[in-house]
Amino acid sequence: MKYILVTGGVISGIGKGIIASSVGTILKACGLRVTAIKIDPYINIDAGTFSPYEHGEVFVLDDGGEVDLDLGNYERFLDINLYRANNITTGKVYQQVITKERRGDYLGKTVQVVPHITDAVQEWVMSQAKVPVDARGEEPQVCVIELGGTIGDIEGMPFVEAFRQFQFRVQRENFANIHVSLVPQPGATGEQKTKPTQNSVRELRGLGLSPDLVVCRCESPLSLSVKEKVAMFCHVGPEQVMCVHDVSCVYRVPLLLESQGVVQYFRERLNLPIPLTQPPRRLSKWREMANRSDRMLKSVAITLVGKYVRLSDSYASVVKALEHAALAMNHKLQLSYVDSADLEGGVQSTDPVKYHEAWHKLCSADGVLVPGGFGIRGTEGKISAVEWARKNNKPFLGVCLGMQLAVIEFARNQLGWTDANSTEFDPDTKHPVVVDMPEHNPGDMGGTMRLGKRTTIFKTSNSVLRQLYGNKESVDERHRHRYEVNPALVGEFERRGLRFVGQDVDGQRMEILELDDHPFFVGVQFHPEFTSRPMAPSPVYLGLLLSAAGKLQSFLQRGCRLSPRDDYSDVSDDDDSDSELAALGGATAPSNGLPGNGLPGNGLPGNDLPGNGLGGV
Ligand code: GLN
Repeated sequence: MKYILVTGGVISGIGKGIIASSVGTILKACGLRVTAIKIDPYINIDAGTFSPYEHGEVFVLDDGGEVDLDLGNYERFLDINLYRANNITTGKVYQQVITKERRGDYLGKTVQVVPHITDAVQEWVMSQAKVPVDARGEEPQVCVIELGGTIGDIEGMPFVEAFRQFQFRVQRENFANIHVSLVPQPGATGEQKTKPTQNSVRELRGLGLSPDLVVCRCESPLSLSVKEKVAMFCHVGPEQVMCVHDVSCVYRVPLLLESQGVVQYFRERLNLPIPLTQPPRRLSKWREMANRSDRMLKSVAITLVGKYVRLSDSYASVVKALEHAALAMNHKLQLSYVDSADLEGGVQSTDPVKYHEAWHKLCSADGVLVPGGFGIRGTEGKISAVEWARKNNKPFLGVCLGMQLAVIEFARNQLGWTDANSTEFDPDTKHPVVVDMPEHNPGDMGGTMRLGKRTTIFKTSNSVLRQLYGNKESVDERHRHRYEVNPALVGEFERRGLRFVGQDVDGQRMEILELDDHPFFVGVQFHPEFTSRPMAPSPVYLGLLLSAAGKLQSFLQRGCRLSPRDDYSDVSDDDDSDSELAALGGATAPSNGLPGNGLPGNGLPGNDLPGNGLGGV
C-alpha cells in the first residue's frame, strides 16, 4: 500500500480536497486502484449534526455514513464508493480509545495522546486503506489521505504526529506528503509572494514531515523565478514545486497537475507499478469534459428554492448533479438561488424588494428545484414555488423535503385539505400527509434517520423516471430523512393524478412521485445527487434539465440518447496544453490576491453565491 498524505498550509479553503482528489484521479488513470481517507480534526463524531449554514452539505454514503462533503469529491473524482470509516474525526478516534480504556484493554496503563491516540490513527488508516471501494472489489494500491485544516492547528497536532511516526512504520518508499500552500499576489504590483508558503513548510518540517511536493495555489501560473524561490526556501527540488492556478473549470485540475510531472515523480518516489510508456491521452475523458465545459453555447436556467442559500456549499452535491446533467447535454447551467422565505408574505412582505426579486428569479427559470431540508422556516415559500411550477407547467424536481412539500401543496390546493401538513411542522394537523416514521427516535439528534442506500421498486412501467433510469425494475439510492408520505392517504392522491410510481420493497414508503399531464413534475424521497458522477449524471437531475431545455421528449423517444449534436462523442479532443495553462480565473478573482474562481467551485457561470472555496467535480 502506498500512502499519500495531503496537508494544507497558510489558510484552508484553497482547494486542498480538489488537489488531493486530482492526484488520486491521475494515479487511477495510470491503472492503479486508489482509495481515499479524509481526516477532520473536529470533535464531532460525524457530520450528521452539522448545520448546513456553517459547514455546507452533509454528504451521505451508501452505508448511511453522514460525512464531510469532501468525501463527495473523492467519490465523484475517483468514481468509487466510500464508507463511513473513510472519514476519520477526532471524535471517532477518541471514542474508540476511550471504549478500549473502559474495557480494560490498556491493562492499567495511562492512556495518552502519544502513543495511544496516534497508534489508533495509524491503525485505522492502515485497515481502512485496504477496503475495496470500486466495482472490481479488489484491494486498493494507493490511499490518498487528506488532513483537514492547516498545519499548526491545535486540533490537527495528534494527526500530524501520527503521520510523523507512520512514515517510519511503513517506510519511505510507501509514504509521501503533498503540502498544498498558497502563493498570494497582493497589491497593485501583483507580485507573487512566497513567504506564507516558506513559513508553512518550515512549520511542517518542525513537526517532522518533509513535503515531497509543494503544490502552490495561485491566481496565475508561477513564474520560473518564483518556483525556484519556493524550491530553495522550502528545501525541495524545482520539480517538486507544482502550481495550481485558477482555471476555467475544475476538470482542468488533474490535467494541470499531470502536465507538471506528478506521474513521473510518484513513479520513482513511491516505486509505483506504472509502465514508463503510458498512453499519451491518459486523462482524455477529463480533457473532453473540460473542453466541453469551456465551449458550451446554449444554457438552461434552473432556480433552486432553498433555505441555506447563503453558502453555496450547503447544496454542494445538488449543484454538482445539476452541473453533470448540464454538461452531459452540452448546456451551460445558469443556476440562481432563491431563499424560500423571501417568497412568503405577499406584497405586504417585510421586504418587498426581496419578495419581488425572489419571484422574478423563480418565474424566469426554465426549471425549479426544491432540495432537501429540515425545519419549518421557509417551507411555505417552497410550497408556493411548487404550486407555481405545477400550475404553470414548469419542470419541477422536489428532493426529499422538496417531495414532501409537493405532496402538501397538492393536498391543500387539489384535494382541498387546506391545513394539510407534515407532522414535522404541525404535529396536530387534521391532514397529516407527511408523517414521522416508526423508527424515528425523538430526543437524540445524531443518527436517528433512515440513512444510506435503500431499494426503490418501480410500481409501473408508466413512469418517466423509470425510463430515465434505463427501464430498470428497481434502483438503489441514498436516503437521509425522518419523515415520509403518509401511506394511508396515497389512494386519494393517485385518484387525482399524483402517482407514487416508486416505493420501497414493502410498498409502505413512497419513494418517487410523478404528476400526470405535466411536462416534468417529479419528487424523490431519496437524494440522487449523492451518486451523480461527472461522466454518469443522475437520471433524475438529467430529466429535470432535459425537460427545462425542452429536450426530454426527444431524448426519451431516442431511447434515452442525446441528439448527436449534444452527445459526448461529438467533442473533439484538440486541446493544446497552452490553453490548459492559460490563467482564466481573472474575471472574478478577488483583488486581495487570493485565488479566485477557477478551482473553488464558485466559478460557475450564473452562480450568484459566494463560495467558501471548496468546490469539486
Ligand atoms: N425534514 C424532512 C425529513 O426529515 C426531509 C429531510 C431531507 O430533506 N433530507 O424527512
